[in-house]
Amino acid sequence: MLSQLSGNDFVLVVVDDIRFSFTDKYGKSHKAGGLTNGTGGPAIVSYNDWAKNPYLAVHEFFHTLSLDDIEDHSQKQRLMYHLEGNSGSSISNQELIDVNRYIMGDISNVTRGRYANPGLNTVNKLRTFLNRSSNGFIFNKAKFR
Ligand SMILES: [Zn+2]
Repeated sequence: MLSQLSGNDFVLVVVDDIRFSFTDKYGKSHKAGGLTNGTGGPAIVSYNDWAKNPYLAVHEFFHTLSLDDIEDHSQKQRLMYHLEGNSGSSISNQELIDVNRYIMGDISNVTRGRYANPGLNTVNKLRTFLNRSSNGFIFNKAKFR
């Protein structure tokens, strides 16, 4: 239920399918197994792609924590490599530092006392992201109310 979400929750949504495709730096087209609405999310995965690749949701979650995709074919073992249904899980020390900086940055903001970020309205962000037709999410709309 969308009403159960709070302002800055991290959300992973599982949908029936994602029809969005992207072109990699080599010019090859790929169907997306997951999509994340930038840092902070929400993150959305296709059930069938997630069933094939158990790291898919982790990959999307790490996008919400600020990491970018990797397309270098020599980095296939990496969690953030996102081509050819990757199932790698390694994370570099630099990626861990970047995630840590993102999390610590938010904690610093919270401790300032007047912390309020209207951009973290998770329910609105999720509704907008789910219903953006260019993302091609296939899901039972009756279950997202
Ligand atoms: Zn990705």
